[in-house]
Amino acid sequence: MIKLMAANWKMYKTRPEASDTARDLVKSLEAMLPDDREVLVFPPFTALYAVGEAFKGRKNFSWGAQNFYPKEEGAYTGEISPRMLAELGCTYLLTGHSERRHVFGEGDGLVADKTTLGLAQGFRVVMCIGETIEERRGGKVEEILKNQLDKGLSGVDKSLSPERLSIAYEPVWAIGTGEVASLDDIVQAHSFIRQQLGKAFGERGQEMRILYGGSVKPDNASEILGLDNVDGVLVGGASLKADSFSRIVLA
Ligand code: PGA
Repeated sequence: MIKLMAANWKMYKTRPEASDTARDLVKSLEAMLPDDREVLVFPPFTALYAVGEAFKGRKNFSWGAQNFYPKEEGAYTGEISPRMLAELGCTYLLTGHSERRHVFGEGDGLVADKTTLGLAQGFRVVMCIGETIEERRGGKVEEILKNQLDKGLSGVDKSLSPERLSIAYEPVWAIGTGEVASLDDIVQAHSFIRQQLGKAFGERGQEMRILYGGSVKPDNASEILGLDNVDGVLVGGASLKADSFSRIVLA
């Protein structure tokens, strides 16, 4: 399986800053990128074109959008449709990120609509799921993950080819906090997610990538990537600098 090494730049970087970072990533990675690693960057909308210019035509370098509205077009002030993103060369879309869920109030219904439409329009989708610290303390991790998976994937075509859908397990309490889930917690959650994907997609579910996200850094990436059922990482803070993200990609 090709490991997916994804950077989420969130609301950071102007167009020239993004362009410089993307070019630096190409410079430091292109010659040494193993065949089983794919680099994916989610820049802010305003930098998508610049990142596309830096990455286009390069094998295993992709870019995608952090957000979109799940309609083809219409009177939706301030929103951006998948078609507009395809035009910028995006092949990936992110759905269900905890900041969208918790800061912007996106519920499971919207996450499901976005995941379903994004896939139906031919994109690859990375759907994020994860529990809060209260949910973890309450012993509800599996219940929450199952619920987010069931709802988020309810409309998805079950004959989908497996490389089109990835799940990112991101415990909310580990995002941007410097607090990483323990290796045991990660193994347990990923194995549970694998089981659920098997139930939903049969054999195909074994080949879908499950990423870990939450305070991944150059010095913990390699042990996390070595765990069972960890098929990549989704990195926020440590992806903003090209040298730090390059070290993670090659970990
Ligand atoms: P972090 O963010 O790496 O800064 O914890 C991860 C994410 O939000 O995807």
